[in-house]
Amino acid sequence: MQRMRTYRPIRSDISKYRCVICKDAKAYRSKGTLKRHVSTLHFPDVIYRCPIEGCSEETWRRDNYHAHHNRK
Ligand SMILES: [Zn+2]
Ligand SMILES: [Zn+2]
Repeated sequence: MQRMRTYRPIRSDISKYRCVICKDAKAYRSKGTLKRHVSTLHFPDVIYRCPIEGCSEETWRRDNYHAHHNRK
């Protein structure tokens, strides 16, 4: 006796990535897209980057950005 199995993978919402901060209905199809959304909207990596050559100071705080050259 042989049982025939028709196996159909069920597509679930597990492939959708949702922003946990927005908590709105928007879901992203790929992890990369969601990551970009989060990093640009919620956690901007670097807002202020020091324009002085050789200085690698990067900060998202404006006061830090101005202060770091004062402490010599
Ligand atoms: Zn979001
Ligand atoms: Zn600097």
